[in-house]
Amino acid sequence: QPATLGRGDAGSTKAAAHFVFVPLNEQGHLIPAVDTALLLATHGALCTIVAPPSTAARVRHTVDAARHSGLPVRLVEFPLDYAAAGLPEGADHADRIEPRYMMSYYRAVALLRAPIERYLRARAPYPTCVVSDFFNPWTTELAAGLGVPRLSFFCMCAFSILCQHNLERFHAFAGVEDSNEPVVVPGLETRRVVVTRAQAPGFLRGIPIPEWEALADYIERARAEADGVIFNTFLELEPEYAAGYAAARGMKVWTVGPVSLYHQQAGAAATLASRGKGNNDTPAVDAAGCLRWLDGRDPGSVLYVSFGSIVQPEPKQVVELGLGLEASGHPFVWVVRNAGGYDEAVRAFLDELEARVAGRGLIVRGWAPQAVILSHAAAGGFVTHCGWNSMLEAIVAGLPVVTWPHFADQFLNEKMAVEVLGIGVSVGVKEPLIYQAVKKEIVVGRDVVEAAVRSVMGGGEEAERRRRRVRALAAKARAAVQEGGSSHANLLDLVKRFEPRDN
Ligand code: UDP
Repeated sequence: QPATLGRGDAGSTKAAAHFVFVPLNEQGHLIPAVDTALLLATHGALCTIVAPPSTAARVRHTVDAARHSGLPVRLVEFPLDYAAAGLPEGADHADRIEPRYMMSYYRAVALLRAPIERYLRARAPYPTCVVSDFFNPWTTELAAGLGVPRLSFFCMCAFSILCQHNLERFHAFAGVEDSNEPVVVPGLETRRVVVTRAQAPGFLRGIPIPEWEALADYIERARAEADGVIFNTFLELEPEYAAGYAAARGMKVWTVGPVSLYHQQAGAAATLASRGKGNNDTPAVDAAGCLRWLDGRDPGSVLYVSFGSIVQPEPKQVVELGLGLEASGHPFVWVVRNAGGYDEAVRAFLDELEARVAGRGLIVRGWAPQAVILSHAAAGGFVTHCGWNSMLEAIVAGLPVVTWPHFADQFLNEKMAVEVLGIGVSVGVKEPLIYQAVKKEIVVGRDVVEAAVRSVMGGGEEAERRRRRVRALAAKARAAVQEGGSSHANLLDLVKRFEPRDN
């Protein structure tokens, strides 16, 4: 008989739902998955997060803090068998692995199925649902072995997922030779969205990594066979796309976001500051230092610039971006991921720029407490690569965006920001900047950067309209996660629906 774990349910003898989260190592997947687990735990479900040690290290602090505050959540580590997977020892951060080892990495993670199943069988309470990152298709077999349902967890928006799904379902690019020729996304009822194959090559398609196509097929099968989908988005942001995806797949969709609001709601400022910060991502500035710096700036005056946890701009691009920021005249916090990995010339450029803009520009060389910075009153705009978490964090903070997509769902997210929501200005990149089949040098010039920044941070009528729109969305985001809100209701529904059947 499963243990009773429900909180706020005094006197009840009902056993609680027990979700097993199988996240991915990439920060953009891992952070929202863990936040979702914490939210479900807040509503009384037990959540067990299973992960290899390097993945667990990135979220250990956050999970431990939640556990100590009384949430029924646990993080269990399973070591990777490097030799069995043909993976070099220690190559276990998916965002740093050389592309040639990528498949071995996913093989190593998939080999965790048997030990995870053994662990879960041996310990009460028995799981009632597996929540798997869509990138872990082997969880189909895990859930089947355990005899429990499996939900796909998407760290992307419903709009991008539905567009991608429809492009494939209706073979929209069939017969289109030129990968830069725009086609209309089929099956969207209320909007005409135009996209190229280069920007939306098919879900996880067109990536020049050996065996990748086979993995993409396996992932698609696993997605089609899922018992439902959890999205880190909120219904009011994209009702027709959430409903559209549910209808297209014939499965239930739960929108539970923005999950970053968990930390603010829980009053857990410390965990928000350290989200995703593992031992390999030591921040160059601490949250307190950043906040002090921001305290000295005018409200809404600071531009935050970051390309997330995977994108690493080319040296030339770093220089053009830096000069564009300088020329814009606006205060900025610029996060340069893995700055130490650049050559001497780029590092010297950054040092000199920092000296020239002293007091006006802060360069963070490494991992930044992004969500904390964005929610500071001094933040006024965000230059983003359009990773969905970053986009949603911008919306939560009520910040208009300069959109600079690089790959994956980012071009569709840009369309969401610029065309659907009207909260962004594009720098005009038309083709993927990383994972290109044929390497092309595409550099956004300093003038383009400056113009886009001025447009978003400036005081013109359109800039004001953008601000008003995104602030209205921020209010809706907050309402969604509060009692009576759509995401709140969906979390409660999940907890109820996946209670043990013999309750
Ligand atoms: N992030 C952060 N500090 C950094 C870089 C990223 O806290 O220096 C967080 C960011 O807040 C977001 C996630 O990492 O929650 C990145 O996800 P996103 O989908 O935006 O982009 P990805 O990294 O997957 O490309």
